[in-house]
Amino acid sequence: MIEFSHVSKRYPTGHDALRDVNFSLGRGELAFLTGHSGAGKSTLLRLIMLMERPSSGTIQVAGQTLTQLKSAEIPFHRRRIGVVFQNHQLLFDRSVFDNIALPLHISGYHLDDIGKRVRAALDKVGLLSKEKLNPVTLSTGEQQRIGIARAIVNRPQLILADEPTGNLDPELSAEIMRLFMEFNHHGTTVLIASHDLALINQMDCRVLTLNQGRMTQHG
Ligand code: ADP
Repeated sequence: MIEFSHVSKRYPTGHDALRDVNFSLGRGELAFLTGHSGAGKSTLLRLIMLMERPSSGTIQVAGQTLTQLKSAEIPFHRRRIGVVFQNHQLLFDRSVFDNIALPLHISGYHLDDIGKRVRAALDKVGLLSKEKLNPVTLSTGEQQRIGIARAIVNRPQLILADEPTGNLDPELSAEIMRLFMEFNHHGTTVLIASHDLALINQMDCRVLTLNQGRMTQHG
């Protein structure tokens, strides 16, 4: 599903965020991406989403070489990927339902279909009863689950998560990780960037480690 071949990323500041990174993640696999703050985890995820371009090397996602994608093809590429952030970036001026429906409106789904898909996504994260509420009234853990529902509502082939449990206590963090594992059991490929080693060690999953932009362990 993801293949990095000799990928390096130098920012315009001259900083080498990734150096000769090689790894692959198969379809239906789940892995953690770990490493110290500044190791290059977010950069690696941003390259997969095409929010950044590599300075050298090639990246393939779902059989497509990203450098060969034309600008017009980028939205289709991004639609295959569900992204979860630490600070879930929910809109507090609209309901839970509308937050989750947003990517479906952008993709041009029919209203009936939007209702079904939003409720299916809410059901998967266990928050079906909260659709009419404003997300500001929910707990931090619930808000993160709404962020996850929004990421999966398009039924992506790949989920990328950047420090998805950064704001949560250990119990809620484990709950969020169980959700990712459940999506993975249903066939979705999952890559989770996290520096929470205690949590990662509990999970018994493949671990990719970055150190100063180099991948020192790829499981
Ligand atoms: P991590 O997610 O592991 O904390 P990042 O990928 O965010 O690491 O950052 C890797 C390195 O690249 C850091 O030293 C960071 O300061 C630098 N960096 C990240 N984004 C940029 C940018 N847009 N411009 C210049 N340097 C950046």
